[in-house]
Amino acid sequence: MELDIELQPSDLVGCRYRVVQRYRFAGQSPTEAALRRIERAEAGKSRVLALLPTAPEPWDPPRFSRVHIDSDDENAELETLEALAAQTTIITGAVFTGVSDGRRWRATPDVLVRDGDGRYLPVIVSNHRIARPEEGRKQPLIATARLGLGAPSTGAYRLRHHAVDGYRLGLSARALAGFGLDSGRGAAIGQDRELAFLVDTGHYQAALSTALAASLPDRPRRLKECGECRFWFDCGPRLTAADDISLLFPGDRAERYRLRGIDTVGELIDADLGEASALAAAWRARIPVLRRVERVSAPRFDVEIDIDVEAYLDQGAYLWGAFDGRDYHPFVTWGGLGTAAEADTFAGFWAWLCSVRDDAHARGLSFAAFCYARHGENHWLSSSARRFGGHVSPEGHRVPSEAEIAAFISSDEWVDVFAAVRAQLIGPRGLGLKTVAPQAGFTWAETELDGEASVDMYRIAAGHTDADPAAVAEARRRLLSYNGDDCRATSVVRAWLAVGAPGTPPLMG
Ligand code: SF4
Repeated sequence: MELDIELQPSDLVGCRYRVVQRYRFAGQSPTEAALRRIERAEAGKSRVLALLPTAPEPWDPPRFSRVHIDSDDENAELETLEALAAQTTIITGAVFTGVSDGRRWRATPDVLVRDGDGRYLPVIVSNHRIARPEEGRKQPLIATARLGLGAPSTGAYRLRHHAVDGYRLGLSARALAGFGLDSGRGAAIGQDRELAFLVDTGHYQAALSTALAASLPDRPRRLKECGECRFWFDCGPRLTAADDISLLFPGDRAERYRLRGIDTVGELIDADLGEASALAAAWRARIPVLRRVERVSAPRFDVEIDIDVEAYLDQGAYLWGAFDGRDYHPFVTWGGLGTAAEADTFAGFWAWLCSVRDDAHARGLSFAAFCYARHGENHWLSSSARRFGGHVSPEGHRVPSEAEIAAFISSDEWVDVFAAVRAQLIGPRGLGLKTVAPQAGFTWAETELDGEASVDMYRIAAGHTDADPAAVAEARRRLLSYNGDDCRATSVVRAWLAVGAPGTPPLMG
């Protein structure tokens, strides 16, 4: 499908049909979730703008200038060119437009930084995790506060790839190349606003050309992102009317069936392809969970603790929740993540968990702690030990070492309930806690707080917005309720598995 539309980097990732829908429904406003995402992006950008240098230090070369352009202004592109011509050291809010690979595009690097050779480095601010610490790596980087002034150094980080960030940098470099000002390098600032990670923008060009040149689809195909898309009101009914197979297998997951000429859920049911056809039939019959095994089971212990962690982006874990079968125990901080407040909270949680475990052992009782999908909990257990190991809280609680955490998470006393679910059950809509727990009879008091909503709620709860005290208190109450229910839901699912997951039909026959 061909439309003369100006593409932005975000149009080149995920659903390409969104561009078509934006053209068809130009007046459709963004969803609440999208607006919150824009707010978070703006908050990140403001923080970076505040960190950028405004003047050289006494020991820096004296020539320095900084210009801000309102990127929404109709003259923004012209002002960008003027700032480049004036050899401005730091330009924020720059706008470029261009045509390549047969497409019109628009690039908006958050910052342009002039290098020693008089060329420019585009810098983007992203809410992604740009890099993770990794021993032995030598990643070029520079402090945000020294952009335009200092020389890069290296740090022990491994970069993570995010296509949209690469396209933003690649497109900006392409624009600069048109003026002979491309330095060949760019920088990405992620959730740690104080560090800019340097990258070779040449790496992105081939993928960028492919993405720009790709033709636009002429119909929707369901993807994960449909759930939060403003155009679902149109795409959803069309997919349902077509009985499209992507309703069952989103994205490319249905590709192997399409290659066999199977495009609809009905055709997949009729194709008699074993598990896939059985899942399709379950989806059609609105059966969320099926059993793969004759008899579903789960181990029980004398003392059982269900755990769930809540974190804010990559910045830290603010809530460790634990349910002991009777009471919910939250260990929470609304103070600064990455500071002693977070360390104290983790130390308190760990001391409590160890006391419950040691007491069970002392009484000759078996003990296990549980979570649902261990990835997040394991990450924050290890990361908390790495960042705060040895810290002692005012109450005298000690943050464990990484070795202690490694021993715990590899022990039989740390159990991933999701692994047990996945081994024994299957579901046409996946086996997330929100899908499985209702089958075990559990419902959440807070129904709309997962994913991005909880990120926004945390920003209110931690006082990062201008919400009034009543709204802050309400946000805290809701996050605690949600975390407590996640812990309880895990407990209920375990109990349900242990009695054979009653009410769950078999996968086949
Ligand atoms: S609802 Fe889904 S298919 Fe439709 S435009 Fe949005 S993401 Fe694409």
